[in-house]
Amino acid sequence: MRSTFLITAAAIATAVSAAPATLQKRATTAQVIETCTVPGTIALTFDDGPYEYTWDLAETLKKNGVKATFFMNGENWVDVNTQSVQTSAGKKTYKQVIKHVYDMGHQLGSHTYHHLELAGQSTSKVKSEMTKMETIFRSIIGKNPLYMRPPAGAYDSNTLKTLGGMGYKAVLWDIDSNDWRYSEISSLSHEQANYKSVIEKDSKTKPHGHIALHHDVYEKTAEKLVPWVISYIKSKGTYKFVTVAECLGNTKGSAYRTKQ
Ligand SMILES: [Zn+2]
Repeated sequence: MRSTFLITAAAIATAVSAAPATLQKRATTAQVIETCTVPGTIALTFDDGPYEYTWDLAETLKKNGVKATFFMNGENWVDVNTQSVQTSAGKKTYKQVIKHVYDMGHQLGSHTYHHLELAGQSTSKVKSEMTKMETIFRSIIGKNPLYMRPPAGAYDSNTLKTLGGMGYKAVLWDIDSNDWRYSEISSLSHEQANYKSVIEKDSKTKPHGHIALHHDVYEKTAEKLVPWVISYIKSKGTYKFVTVAECLGNTKGSAYRTKQ
């Protein structure tokens, strides 16, 4: 009996060490994603929300057949745990806003709890920023996001090691609308130039994939920039609007993990 047990234990040990490539992966540094790998896809991303424009923006995008990705904070422009907002569908808590974005078919990602720039931060600080945000997501959609965007795109090797250990992938961008810089200027010329500088370089027959950066906390972004982006990209006729997970060749559902 004893030898049988030993064989079984050895077999289990072999299986455990061989099988979970994912477990081993999680011990390595987080992958940094700067662009889409599926040609002809574009992932519109929105950072720093939720805020007062987020509810309606999620709907506008859906009405236009656009699936986007929102990298959210717990306490940035608002405190998600305590504050509410007037939307076109009445007064909603910010947790309801997050649920609505999810229900509209968009992907949710983490942007840390306090919008903390992670470069130079201790492992425990990075972990607490991420786990506090996970608590919010789990209370709303019952799972944690797999993708995160480091605030200001700032990270160092310790950031990536910590994020990787938690199972995260870090998402940057290759189109920067710079909308935060021009949010008070009524003209869209700067944002348009930034978009065009990337898109016009693409081959018409085999366009690249792109991840575009915006912030849903500016009225100008929600009301003017997004409608322009949608019509501009659609006018090219060669791009498909997808989530970040999908633009990397993964399913929408793969953007989350159920375990902590
Ligand atoms: Zn941000």
